[in-house]
Amino acid sequence: MLARDDLRKLRHGHNRIDAKKSSLLQIQGWGFEPAATKYASRLNVDNKHLKLAKYSIGIGDRFAHQAKAQLQACVQALQNGVQVIPVWNKSNREHTIIGSEPLSVRRAADAAVQALHWEEPYFCDADHITLQTVDRFLESCDFYTIDVADSIGKPATAADMESFVRRHPELLGRVQLEGVDEQFEVTREHLTRTAEKFLVAVKKAGEVYRKIEYAKGAGNFIPEISMDEADRTQSTMDLLIILAAIADEGIPVQTIAPKFSGRFNKGVDYVGDVAQFEPELALDVAAITYAVRQYGLPENLKLSVHSGSDKFSIYPAIHATIKRFNAGVHLKTAGTTWLEELIGLAEAGGDGLARAKEIYSEAFARRDELCSPYATVIDVDPAKLPPPDEVRGWSSEQYTSALRHVSGTAAYNSSFRQLLHVGFKIAARMGRRYLDLLELNEAVIAKNVTENLYDRHIGPVFLGRAGTVRNSTGRNA
Ligand SMILES: [Zn+2]
Repeated sequence: MLARDDLRKLRHGHNRIDAKKSSLLQIQGWGFEPAATKYASRLNVDNKHLKLAKYSIGIGDRFAHQAKAQLQACVQALQNGVQVIPVWNKSNREHTIIGSEPLSVRRAADAAVQALHWEEPYFCDADHITLQTVDRFLESCDFYTIDVADSIGKPATAADMESFVRRHPELLGRVQLEGVDEQFEVTREHLTRTAEKFLVAVKKAGEVYRKIEYAKGAGNFIPEISMDEADRTQSTMDLLIILAAIADEGIPVQTIAPKFSGRFNKGVDYVGDVAQFEPELALDVAAITYAVRQYGLPENLKLSVHSGSDKFSIYPAIHATIKRFNAGVHLKTAGTTWLEELIGLAEAGGDGLARAKEIYSEAFARRDELCSPYATVIDVDPAKLPPPDEVRGWSSEQYTSALRHVSGTAAYNSSFRQLLHVGFKIAARMGRRYLDLLELNEAVIAKNVTENLYDRHIGPVFLGRAGTVRNSTGRNA
């Protein structure tokens, strides 16, 4: 095997290898052409590298108790003829708030896979990691969402901008993407400005990528790059330029999460122009196809939609677009499975309902503290939060229908839902008092977790099947 330094020189020696066409990138593109195979053997990269399939879903499981119920939704998809690969994701922020370790995610995933005899691939995602937070995830994860949103806008050096523009004459003038009517006219100034905005972030992604690669070995993990938590939406040309820079940086990225227009608040529906979203998504998919061909990025590179869960109104657009382009997609949901735990507990009545009310009451009292870390991704209207005294008198039905995300019903309360969504810290502090009830009410909770994931997310996005929307359920309904 080549020494790491040699490998790095190879990867970054733009003088020796034209990055755009290099065979090295073809290997990173997991192509198996003779040239790639030759490089592969030199670099000791075999053909067994991890590769993310066309359809995958990122699922969160805050308390590591619902992996089996979540996986059951993927089993149902498979039984209906569609392979949707589960990726359990948990961010450093989540681990810190809960007091859990990444190994717990791996263990829960492994146990679920074993219990349900899942024979397809599955992954554990170190969600939104940076150079500072990646370490604790190195052992147990095989999917890394490298977050460089904070570095966007840090100005690149003049030399870096110049060499980028020199390397990418194909991005100057008229750029036509396949499968869409739009054409883009890119001036030297536009290209330079965009490079200035994103090159530092991409270099940062390269640093994080190489740190992981050094620890795990190339091909032993799926790299994603996320820019969705940036302040500004990225246009299609931004995305194309970012992908060119990622290829230059030698990152074999398999999923990329841009910031789309509109708001992707946690646990509630999309806020934005739904009609505008579909053409925007189509252009981004076309940009990815272009970048794969032009820059030798992995042929399975696809969009990762960090949905924050429950973007029901744009699911049909996502489905239509992946069908139209025969493209893949990674749909990352947030930790709303924990809300299904609360729904299940409330539905169970008795102690379960009492605990669900207690959690709300505490969350209400500490709403400012709970909401502040998520300020940019939630919209809680304090005036719409029911007083805890009132909630204490609620039936199971009242609690579940306020919490369950069924838009347009009088009972559904998005502020109530979002406060509870970020209120998982309260349940985490309860420790066994919460977990024991989860275990005691496993059946009713599992039913809610599986149905929610399958009917309302996997169905509409991957199977093109409208979700079953229930207004009320449960034995107390
Ligand atoms: Zn994200």
